[in-house]
This record gives sequence, structure tokens and C-alpha cells, in this order.
Amino acid sequence: MTTQPFSPDVVNAIVRDMDDPRYPSRITVFCDHCGVENTGEYMVSTEMTSTERLAVARQHLVQNEGWEHTTDGDDFCRAHAGAPE
Ligand SMILES: [Zn+2]
Repeated sequence: MTTQPFSPDVVNAIVRDMDDPRYPSRITVFCDHCGVENTGEYMVSTEMTSTERLAVARQHLVQNEGWEHTTDGDDFCRAHAGAPE
């Protein structure tokens, strides 16, 4: 599966495909330490739960923006990822 966010061409192809249930949605992830937010457009589908949609955004932030998502369910921005309490 391609890592999001997709290129504009890929997004257009998905939106034009009536059989593809995915559509672009704005998702915001907050740092649980300082409260900074990161908002991005991600492709989600109507079948995805809010947790699954958030997971798409988190995966992008962890892999590309240096964010951390802990097993406790907390999110930390680049400045606070991996930092002790
Ligand atoms: Zn932070």
C-alpha cells in the first residue's frame, strides 16, 4: 500500500473512480505534550472508523515527520518524540 499523502495524480484517479470508496479528508493529530497540531489531507474510505483514519495520519507523521505514536495512544511531535517525561 502506498504511503500517504498520495500525489495529486493519484488522488484525482481515486476520486474519479466511482468504484473506489476513498475520498480526501482533513485529519489533525495533536502532540500530547505541547499541543502543537499537524493537519494533512489523507485518503480515507467511508468504511474506516475514526481510529483507522487517525492511524493513516499517524503513520505518515511517524514515517515522514519524525512524530512518535506510543503504545499508550499518545502522539508526540518531532520535538517531543522519544523524550522522557
Ligand atoms: Zn510537542
